[in-house]
Amino acid sequence: MFPVETKVFKLNTSTDHTNAIYEAATVLKNGGLVVFPTETVYGLGGDATNPDAAQAIYAAKGRPSDNPLIIHVADPADAEPYAVTCDAYYRLARHFMPGPLTVILPKKDTIPFSVTGGLDSVAVRCPSHPIARQLIQASGVPIAAPSANRSGRPSPTCAAHAIEDLCGRVDIILDGGDCEVGLESTIVKLEDNRGILLRPGAITPDDLRAVLTDLSIAPAVTAALAQGERVLSPGMKYRHYAPAAPLTLLEGKDEDVRAFLIRQAALPGVGILCFDEEIPLMPANASLFPVGARHDLETQAHRLFAALRDADAAPHIEKLYAHLPPMEGLGLALYNRAIRAAAHTIVHIDPCVPKID
Ligand code: AMP
Ligand code: MG
Repeated sequence: MFPVETKVFKLNTSTDHTNAIYEAATVLKNGGLVVFPTETVYGLGGDATNPDAAQAIYAAKGRPSDNPLIIHVADPADAEPYAVTCDAYYRLARHFMPGPLTVILPKKDTIPFSVTGGLDSVAVRCPSHPIARQLIQASGVPIAAPSANRSGRPSPTCAAHAIEDLCGRVDIILDGGDCEVGLESTIVKLEDNRGILLRPGAITPDDLRAVLTDLSIAPAVTAALAQGERVLSPGMKYRHYAPAAPLTLLEGKDEDVRAFLIRQAALPGVGILCFDEEIPLMPANASLFPVGARHDLETQAHRLFAALRDADAAPHIEKLYAHLPPMEGLGLALYNRAIRAAAHTIVHIDPCVPKID
């Protein structure tokens, strides 16, 4: 079924892109695939009411078809024909939609099982990015869209990443520049007005608790799935965002971790995802992939996936190190992505035990 000729439209805010949006919406209505920017990461979209479009998305991504897709709507109430909504959904919608929040609700028959990976629930999101919103409105259908990366690669945070992964596999790529957040949406599953956080994102647990008094955090958010644990979200089963070189996360006192990183950075084949303020401390020949300042979690979220892609593209990197993010606030989303990229490899740096490799 591949290759397809892929058209790339560069859209910036100062030009009128009605024609590109119209063409992309027509492709979607005809069962084709369109990559589009959102405020979180780029999405790989197809008509969520068309089972063939869902199959095409899985094929283009190389994604297992039991990993369900999020459906994107232009307005929270537009979910009505597709999902069984509730009070808690509209409370969350009033505070966080449009925005980087996905809510899982019981599905209606209008959404094919191929979109939900066979589940009887459906994930709904209302993005705030103007291009995403215009595309949904113009197509007149909900858009099923996972992140626009090949399976196992970091989510794309700019059009170049999506072009790298999907050119020749989709009909249109809408280039809307860099994504603001850089990490995928927060996912909350609602059951009887109670919430379970399945994936942390820019909307933090504290943000959610201000609206939803009953919120628990799925254990798989911060730990490997335990043997026999019920999988609440099929995506939890898969190792996502894996860089080619194995990644080790370091925890310990700042000065100890930094000293360890400086020693490692001098060795051949070692790459470091470092903080900006560490750059001048590192040896001149070090392979560095800066993620932002130590306390600037927004910038780290914005840059993490690009840094992982840069590390993949750099020659001769055999081993990667990064700081273990904190679990508080936006840090929880960074922590969740980092532990998965590292396949849960975390090493505690203790100055009394100076040698590890
Ligand atoms: P992505 O589309 O790449 O952002 O990934 C979407 C995530 O949402 C995956 O981890 C899915 O497993 C999860 N997801 C989507 N729909 C559902 C659902 N109905 N129930 C549980 N998790 C879901
Ligand atoms: Mg994804």
